[in-house]
Amino acid sequence: MTRKVAFYGKGGIGKSTTQQNTAAALAAVHGKKVFIHGCDPKADCTRLVLGGKPQETIMDTLREKGEEAITIDAVVNQGFGGIRCVESGGPEPGVGCAGRGVITSINLMEELGAYSEDLDFVHFDVLGDVVCGGFAMPIREGKAQEVYIVASGEMMATYAANNICKGLLKYADQSGVRLGGIICNSRKVDNELEMMLEFTAALGTQMIHFVPRDNIVQKAEFNKKTVIDYDPNVNQAHEYAELARKIIENEMFVKPKPLTMPELEKMVARYGLMD
Ligand code: ADP
Ligand code: MG
Repeated sequence: MTRKVAFYGKGGIGKSTTQQNTAAALAAVHGKKVFIHGCDPKADCTRLVLGGKPQETIMDTLREKGEEAITIDAVVNQGFGGIRCVESGGPEPGVGCAGRGVITSINLMEELGAYSEDLDFVHFDVLGDVVCGGFAMPIREGKAQEVYIVASGEMMATYAANNICKGLLKYADQSGVRLGGIICNSRKVDNELEMMLEFTAALGTQMIHFVPRDNIVQKAEFNKKTVIDYDPNVNQAHEYAELARKIIENEMFVKPKPLTMPELEKMVARYGLMD
């Protein structure tokens, strides 16, 4: 069975980096078949897997060539480890609703049978922490059954993660979507691990992995590669392989219990003021 997985988290937190490196590990280390559907109008959710090749997005193709031009061959590209990649893209900047593009492109991919049965994982890499409109579509309509939130010990990242949990909870009954865990993508803030462990426990979920901050990620990025593709022997490559293994073996899928704002503020301040 294909597992459909959505990655959410605050903009700039490292969703696309973590998502693509996890996909690379799933494919190259664990032998899984992976499909990435980028749901960010920036269309930068697959570039490390595709070696930086600019990819024609579904919305561009639709706008310029019409719906007949949307075929699997035209919009799906294969990259590292045989990973299949597609980008929703978005409307022209300043015009139209970007969320709408996500809805349109997921529907088109379903109609074409792009999320085929032979796949082990379909990743939806979703813009920012906007759990509304089109960006909530993967979780609202049951397109994704499991969600991983990328967060860090920084205050705004925990706020965003908590908000995403609120959104997820709203749709959990109607769509069956569940939270599979929080990925801590470290920003090296003080007491980060301890705070994330307390935060995830309070939400009723798990910190599925603590991904260290490491410059090798940028080095690989400059070379338009995931870390596993760039150098499979470095520690960071092992970290992503470990995260991928934990996702494969995960059995903890919950409806999260979001914190109230005062609870969250108290928790963040307590760790922030610690020596
Ligand atoms: P998002 O998709 O959440 O907007 P990105 O994945 O584009 O964020 O990441 C933003 C930047 O952070 C990238 O330049 C990436 O190289 C960097 N980054 C992400 N994770 C790590 C990490 N673990 N160590 C070092 N740099 C990282
Ligand atoms: Mg991104």
